Amino acid sequence: MEAIILLGAPGSGKGTAAERLRADCGLQHVSTGDMLREAVKAGTPLGVEADGYMKRGELVPDGLIMRLVESRLDNGRADARYMFDGFPRTTAQAKQLDSTFLKRNGRVTNVFFLDAPRAVLMQRLTGRRVCRKCGAVFHVANMPPRKAGVCDVCGGELYQRSDDSEATIANRLDVYNRQTESLISWYTGKNLLVRVDSSRNADVLVKDIRLLLNESLGKRA
Ligand code: AMP
Repeated sequence: MEAIILLGAPGSGKGTAAERLRADCGLQHVSTGDMLREAVKAGTPLGVEADGYMKRGELVPDGLIMRLVESRLDNGRADARYMFDGFPRTTAQAKQLDSTFLKRNGRVTNVFFLDAPRAVLMQRLTGRRVCRKCGAVFHVANMPPRKAGVCDVCGGELYQRSDDSEATIANRLDVYNRQTESLISWYTGKNLLVRVDSSRNADVLVKDIRLLLNESLGKRA
């Protein structure tokens, strides 16, 4: 079992990159944000507990997140390659990920830090629209759907995430600076982190990450 981690602030393009890399690199995309939104929608006890934190743009407690991730790993194949998007978000989660992987003979092989200035993050998050049915992500200016409000992929209705309001976005970016940024030095210390400029468009970014991944696979072969 192996894991690649996409680290970066909200709006840095982790979800878009992970979705594309999943398709062409045979990776399992694990987004804790998507899993939480599904739990909220389904009204599970975990979803009910997580909902308030998410609405305020705060982090959901580490214990709940680890329960979600571990159940996902338990249901996956022993030789799976995962791409984590939005996880880990605290040093405690990173430590617990290490011990969970150790138990399963797995390891983290690469960490990509998707770096973009705050103004770019704000512009991306305020204009983001998501399909209610299939989860595809659009942007009113950078990646508009063919027909306003309608998903190109499945025809579903596009909506704005409740935590993509301007006040909540500002809080999420502050929470990232306070609680998640420390992971940059944590993974640098482990010699796993590579910084990529994610203010560029998704095609260029994904091409870059794919190249770096192939390079590191070549070195390990
Ligand atoms: P995202 O879709 O990754 O932007 O996540 C949306 C929200 O879900 C975040 O603002 C947090 O409230 C919560 N969340 C997602 N992943 C995590 C995590 N690894 N740790 C704590 N909270 C998380």
